[in-house]
Amino acid sequence: MPAISVDNPLVLPRIPRPDQSTTTARPVSRVVPAQHAIEGAGFEVYRPFPGGVSFAEADPFLLLDQMGPTDNGPGEAKGAPWHPHRGFETVTYLLDGEFAHHDSNGGGGVLYGGDTQWMTAGAGILHDEVPTERLVMSGGRMHGVQLWVNLPASLKFTPPRYQGITGEQLTLLSSDDGGALVRLIAGDLAGHGAPGVTHTPITYAHATVSPGARLSIPWNPGYNAMAYVLSGKAFAGETERPVDAHDLVVFGPGDSITLRAADGEDLEVLLLGGLPIREPVVQYGPFVMNTKAEINQAIDDFNAGRLGTIPAAIL
Ligand code: MN
Repeated sequence: MPAISVDNPLVLPRIPRPDQSTTTARPVSRVVPAQHAIEGAGFEVYRPFPGGVSFAEADPFLLLDQMGPTDNGPGEAKGAPWHPHRGFETVTYLLDGEFAHHDSNGGGGVLYGGDTQWMTAGAGILHDEVPTERLVMSGGRMHGVQLWVNLPASLKFTPPRYQGITGEQLTLLSSDDGGALVRLIAGDLAGHGAPGVTHTPITYAHATVSPGARLSIPWNPGYNAMAYVLSGKAFAGETERPVDAHDLVVFGPGDSITLRAADGEDLEVLLLGGLPIREPVVQYGPFVMNTKAEINQAIDDFNAGRLGTIPAAIL
């Protein structure tokens, strides 16, 4: 980890360090350890939210799963067989391995390390998310992250959409002193755009911070702000709160966020925030709607085959 890297971050556009005299550094409001869970056909995930973080705090995000890293022997790699979604978007960012995906809308493809698959379920879709046959046969490392981004009531029934974003398309940025590489997956950061097209305004990035280096970046004051430590150790915020692998940092209000990597190893961290939707959230498994009646409708529609059918060519 990670698949997309550069030898010298100083050749990249730099993110200016926020001016402390005119901006407010976001304080650390909470640190929440991820919960360990088993998903799909039996793969392990670390899940920082939902769980220790309420929907209101995570808004507009619903779920974050770190899948692996696992080192699989031949025949061991597992995924999630065909299942439905309605009412939100799933974003899968792969760090290591090979992941294949198909959906009932004709979308899909194979993800390699560094690639992102952005699936807007909207009105409804069926899909599967599985290691490639090659990886299952040969075994190997799998490591990825899945983020669920909510949709507002006005977009719950938007048509399904699929975006494949290759690692080469990510916007690569450097911290002001070159101590951190920031891969911008979606949204914008310090005036730089990203390849992912989002219905809900968000910023989503993966940063690698060199041992001892400090990453201080501007953050949209209208967004919430969270950092999830994939691996390594860090000190969060101006107060340098110690955080560990699988910890989620929830920042309070302000204009910028700061993380410093501990000495000894790289810090791999996801940075995410967005414009809160502030609507009721009712979740039932793979459906996320505003009311219980809409959940019942989703279940009825799924049972009646109205969320789509599994393409015959794949069965
Ligand atoms: Mn899914």
